[in-house]
Amino acid sequence: MATMEVHVHCPDCGSLDVIKFGKDRHGRQRFRCNDHFCDRTIFMMDDPDWWRFEEVKKQIALHLLSGNGIHQTAHNLGLHPEFVNRMAK
Ligand SMILES: [Zn+2]
Repeated sequence: MATMEVHVHCPDCGSLDVIKFGKDRHGRQRFRCNDHFCDRTIFMMDDPDWWRFEEVKKQIALHLLSGNGIHQTAHNLGLHPEFVNRMAK
């Protein structure tokens, strides 16, 4: 199956390493996260987790601003350090 690059980021990890992954039974586009550390594989543009991703980004910013390092922030929020590192940039 040919994959197509799309400018969508994963709602779980923020990765742009995302490919189109067919359609669901309602004809909505599905996407798949290719990131090696991401637990999430399939998601959709109207996924309710999108707001959660924005919230997580805010939490990361707050932790970093209060002086926590990347690894401490990742530990506190239960995230992958690589993900926190990416969001911190
Ligand atoms: Zn992901």
